[in-house]
Amino acid sequence: MTTDRHVTKVITGQPTSDGAGVQLTRVLGTPQLDHLDPFLLLDEFKSDRPGDYLAGFPDHPHRGFETVTYMLAGAMRHRDHVGNEGELVAGSVQWMTAGRGIVHSEMPLQKDGLMWGFQLWVNLPARSKMTAPRYQDIPPEKIPEVELAPGVRARVIAGEAAGVRGPVEGIVTQPLYLDVRMEPRSRATLELTPGHAACAYVYEGQVALGADTKAQEIAAGRLAVLGDGDRLTAVTGGAAGRFLLLAARPLREPIARYGPFVMNTREEIVQAVEDYRSGALASGV
Ligand code: FE
Repeated sequence: MTTDRHVTKVITGQPTSDGAGVQLTRVLGTPQLDHLDPFLLLDEFKSDRPGDYLAGFPDHPHRGFETVTYMLAGAMRHRDHVGNEGELVAGSVQWMTAGRGIVHSEMPLQKDGLMWGFQLWVNLPARSKMTAPRYQDIPPEKIPEVELAPGVRARVIAGEAAGVRGPVEGIVTQPLYLDVRMEPRSRATLELTPGHAACAYVYEGQVALGADTKAQEIAAGRLAVLGDGDRLTAVTGGAAGRFLLLAARPLREPIARYGPFVMNTREEIVQAVEDYRSGALASGV
């Protein structure tokens, strides 16, 4: 028996700024939706005004979770405290398991033009929070694109769609990360693991999500939180639509969160701040 997932909540992204003053839209990790276990944050940055992004994200720490950067346009240079360096170009993804600690910067590689992409934060379970940091830098050509139905294509970043597995592997919460592109008047059914938390962020056009009479139109800039089930129906009308489909296994653990540190208890947060100050957070990568 199959059960359709339906939209249980719709969240409108909030304009905010982060890093050294990068203008962005925060979709998850706001007072409207603090988290969707195990997802802690989702930001969209999209601007062709250099003043909105040139300041970038200078050196800052992370501990206890994973940051996922997916670029649609423009490019950024990533550099960490032990000299790991990489370019995040259009169509690429960086899945960074911060684990016990990373100090890094993400700075624009362009002086003008469009900068467009997403950053997602995925929580780690208590047993993995102090794991060694790990990078999965995936260039555009390594992300497979599949046809899900006529006029519906998806880039498979993590997890599986239409029998094709994405390149990001070994992530403890077994995430699905799809970038779905639908032509006008198209329809697709997407498979999801029952029991996994799931949401869809429409970033262009408009898409109706959910089956039959319970379908809900979701416009660009809105996040649809999905109820449980093992599939999602997506339909477009006169307009095309593009959305990220995200799903993962919930951790159901206490969350203690302070800026770039996400742990289970207050004591562990105090320790993280202390380790950052003393330099211990960034040692031994
Ligand atoms: Fe960062």
